Amino acid sequence: MDIRNVVIIGSGCSGHTAALYSARANLKPLVIEGHEPGGQLSITTLVENFPGFPDGIQGPELIENMRKQAQRFGAEYLLGHVTSVDLSRRPFVLHVGKHQVHTKTLIIASGASARWLGLPHEQQLIGHGVSSCATCDGFFFSGKDVVVVGGGDTAMEEANFLTRFATKVTIIHRRDSFRASKIMLERARKNPKIEFLTDTVVEDVHDTSKKEVTALQLLNLKSNHSYDFPTSALFLGIGHEPNAKMFEGQLDMDKDGYLKTRDYVFTRVPGVFASGDVVDRRYRQAITAAGTGCMAAIESERFLEEHPE
Ligand code: NAP
Repeated sequence: MDIRNVVIIGSGCSGHTAALYSARANLKPLVIEGHEPGGQLSITTLVENFPGFPDGIQGPELIENMRKQAQRFGAEYLLGHVTSVDLSRRPFVLHVGKHQVHTKTLIIASGASARWLGLPHEQQLIGHGVSSCATCDGFFFSGKDVVVVGGGDTAMEEANFLTRFATKVTIIHRRDSFRASKIMLERARKNPKIEFLTDTVVEDVHDTSKKEVTALQLLNLKSNHSYDFPTSALFLGIGHEPNAKMFEGQLDMDKDGYLKTRDYVFTRVPGVFASGDVVDRRYRQAITAAGTGCMAAIESERFLEEHPE
């Protein structure tokens, strides 16, 4: 039976960084890429806040560079999706389609996927005005009007952040009461650049032919009135889904399904580490995901030294 030293689930920033560190420690890591290879960076455009790139770098290029860097030291990549795991004994067993993978240590860097609205033209305009990350893309809309969808803390926080750049930020929410904490909602309400449109849903986003966002088609749920609302960007603040369902019952999770760790990357199962957005609901940045990926790799290396068999 082929038993790997380290298997890494996920090929975003955290997974590639864990792969780089493990590969340079001669552990020949195997990265299972998952259903969104490259993670969130692969769906953004210009990344200006990853240190080391004074002129910024395209998200897909940054992630591809990370992969090449890890491969140069011997990391292997498997295109596939983990369907189930058995962490009850070592080596751990992962099911990837028809294959079984056995490993002495496991790094879970499976990320969190942004929730999208499912609009007819939403996916085509991601990176061209449709975004799930105000911190990443807000800067590109200096002097423009933008929209944030959602009624929780994320939407309020993103809207407040966007007022640094945008002329006007409209928060569109499907109800007239908010899930957001009182303090965050009040802060948004007091911000003179923020306006609210409640009882309203987005039905579609225009204009794919121009490869930019020009307007949203909105529906007022009370009046049933459908209309076009000009704007330059659509930011989704409707939450994220951690990709951790396959660990239910085997690892500790919080109420929203994020993996719980202690000392940054340790799960409750010795030899299983978790890093990046599948753990982190607070920062969710490429650089923080990379940082914890590095920590997980160093801990798995130490674990292997202490448990050679
Ligand atoms: P959330 O609290 O689940 O709120 C999601 C919002 O999006 C809700 O208002 C929901 O509407 C709306 N929504 C969901 N699906 C939608 C759809 N398909 N169409 C239209 N609207 C939709 O998520 P979150 O704001 O990301 O917050 C998640 C957690 O992180 C919370 O515990 C929050 O407190 C925390 N957080 C904290 C901070 C902070 O303290 N600085 C910042 C961000 C997040 P309904 O209300 O109608 O369901």
